[in-house]
Amino acid sequence: MFETLTLAPPDKILSLSVLYRNDPRAEKMDLGVGVYKDSEGRTLIMNAVREAEKRLYDSQTTKTYVGMGGDDGFNKGMLKLVFGEDADVSRMFACQTAGGSGALRTIADLLKKAKPDATVWLSDPTWANHAPILTAGGLKTATYPYFDAATGGVKFDAMVEALKKIPAGDVVLLHGCCHNPTGANLTLDQWAVVADILVEKGLFPFVDLAYQGFGDGLEEDAASVRLLAAKVPEMAIATSCSKNFSVYRDRVGAVILMAPDAERAKIAGSQALIVTRVLYSMPPDHAAAAVRIILEDDALRANWKTELEEMRLRMLNLRTGFAEALRRQSNSSRFDFIAEHRGMFSRLGITEDQVNRLREEYGIYMVGDSRFNVAGLKEDRLEDLAKAVVSVL
Ligand code: PMP
Repeated sequence: MFETLTLAPPDKILSLSVLYRNDPRAEKMDLGVGVYKDSEGRTLIMNAVREAEKRLYDSQTTKTYVGMGGDDGFNKGMLKLVFGEDADVSRMFACQTAGGSGALRTIADLLKKAKPDATVWLSDPTWANHAPILTAGGLKTATYPYFDAATGGVKFDAMVEALKKIPAGDVVLLHGCCHNPTGANLTLDQWAVVADILVEKGLFPFVDLAYQGFGDGLEEDAASVRLLAAKVPEMAIATSCSKNFSVYRDRVGAVILMAPDAERAKIAGSQALIVTRVLYSMPPDHAAAAVRIILEDDALRANWKTELEEMRLRMLNLRTGFAEALRRQSNSSRFDFIAEHRGMFSRLGITEDQVNRLREEYGIYMVGDSRFNVAGLKEDRLEDLAKAVVSVL
């Protein structure tokens, strides 16, 4: 059986982590893998999560199955987090999934059931796992123009022209905030233009919301989705708690479906649960229970928001600090876009050879397309990093 298989190519980002770990240089910098890190390079468990886990430990008496859609309190909490505390969620369905990736795959399989011929249109570029997850679900993918490497911004006119040409009934995947890998995002006015095109052309929005709270704030980062909800008849959202609750390995996220009415939301949701039943039967519980405890408790929720806000502001400060250091070192405004971007990533816009030189000559690790993790930057090393970057240009 297995003789028919060939060795899978190593994951680029994870192999970079191994190289980093084995690099003996003390001054090395890890700007590769996409996890939040504090100023000492640690990915700590958030205090609110620790407290929720303690409460869970003290109160949990059984590990029996919870149910196909996971924890109802968690699902209600996620709807409030995404659509707002007082939003009308009567035509929404939510179910807990194994991370944002589990949500993406569940939606892919659901779309395949609903419309087997649909193509999912992805931004160029997009998160490296989008196309593999969608094609594993049997869907076709194509791309629309998005990132303008020359300016570091969004090629909005080209994007709009391309969206207008997509056949009715196809799916458009959009990053709700904090675009990965580019860090370049649509303004709310641009979201409104996109929403109108989606409605006019009969396109289905599929939003990946993996970084709510990492860009402009918890509410601000959901403004895109809330704007869409006010305009489009239906949509699907894949959301993740990996980053904003820092529970990466415990695997929790959610599928959210919005349908034209409650009855259709119920039907679509029932089919989503058949999908997860076949994929993994039931989602893991632990982190979802912790998130539910946090969201249901006013004091704990406030603590969590404060911690999340500290993380977000740290990344913003690093963005401005790094852009300023690059401005000083390069004597140009070439890298100013870094301060304008939001989220955990930006692309420096240098060549793969230059990325390799940064690694070999300075022990600075970033992904080959020059994507770097903002949270991996160190406040006291920005000048060194900027000097290194300028030296390889
Ligand atoms: N979408 C995007 C854009 C991401 O960057 C990630 C994580 N890197 C995910 C989804 C999935 O995250 P997870 O499955 O770890 O929750």
